[in-house]
Amino acid sequence: MPNKHNLKKSANTMSNNDRKPLISGNWKMHMNHFEAIQMVQKLFYDLPLPVYDRIDVSIHPPFTSLRSLQTVFEVDHMPIALGAQNCHNEDSGAFTGEISPLMLAKLNVAYVIVGHSERRQLLGETDRQVNAKVHAVLKHGMTPIVCVGETLEQRQAGSAATVVSTQITNSLKEVTAAQVSDLIIAYEPVWAIGTGKTATPADAQAMCAHIRSQMESKWGNTAAQSLRIQYGGSVKASNIAELMVKNDIDGTLVGGASLKVEDFAPIVNHFS
Ligand code: PEP
Repeated sequence: MPNKHNLKKSANTMSNNDRKPLISGNWKMHMNHFEAIQMVQKLFYDLPLPVYDRIDVSIHPPFTSLRSLQTVFEVDHMPIALGAQNCHNEDSGAFTGEISPLMLAKLNVAYVIVGHSERRQLLGETDRQVNAKVHAVLKHGMTPIVCVGETLEQRQAGSAATVVSTQITNSLKEVTAAQVSDLIIAYEPVWAIGTGKTATPADAQAMCAHIRSQMESKWGNTAAQSLRIQYGGSVKASNIAELMVKNDIDGTLVGGASLKVEDFAPIVNHFS
């Protein structure tokens, strides 16, 4: 799957025009495998092929649909990347109910969402676990989409930037600059997920710029300019344009609006 960026300019002059946007559909716990197949087939036939030259698209169904979608993507030559919503950090073992990154890699999964706020909030996932998962995903040649974001209380208390910085520092321990270059960070303010409230494009850009500058101070300019930062939180066809003009926003992680072709196709079509 193409997830490389166009590095034609020197790193310190790059903008989001130089990084290939990634639009990811996080289906959460929705759709059985029959519905999943129908959805991607409709989506594929609704979108013009050249759009995939301009952006990367990933679909993150529940685990039960991964094998079916892998087959459909391969048999029908759909240039859509397969994504997972989570994985365990160990390759195998006595972890009832868990899925190994090795199993995902065998299914040609390209991207794995790690540290989604629903897992952090509802299942108590910690930065330490997120860090272990990031390394596990990288070890098996997949790309982690590392989710960070503040709650409403943290934003109102003025600590949003500190919270996000701490999540990044702790979640990316021992990651190399070369690995950072290909990483995806998803900035998802918790108060904007599934609520219909979107961060203003200016606020989303400000946090994404803050993230990139933090990455630059730790991993250097080349890695920071190369990595892609997605915004996530109630993205829809009506707000994709105003988000994507922002310099440090390189795509979006889309939940609710990725579940229906009539909502998701216009988001992807923005790039055609
Ligand atoms: C998400 O689940 O990552 C998300 C951003 O959801 P929604 O688009 O529904 O806010």
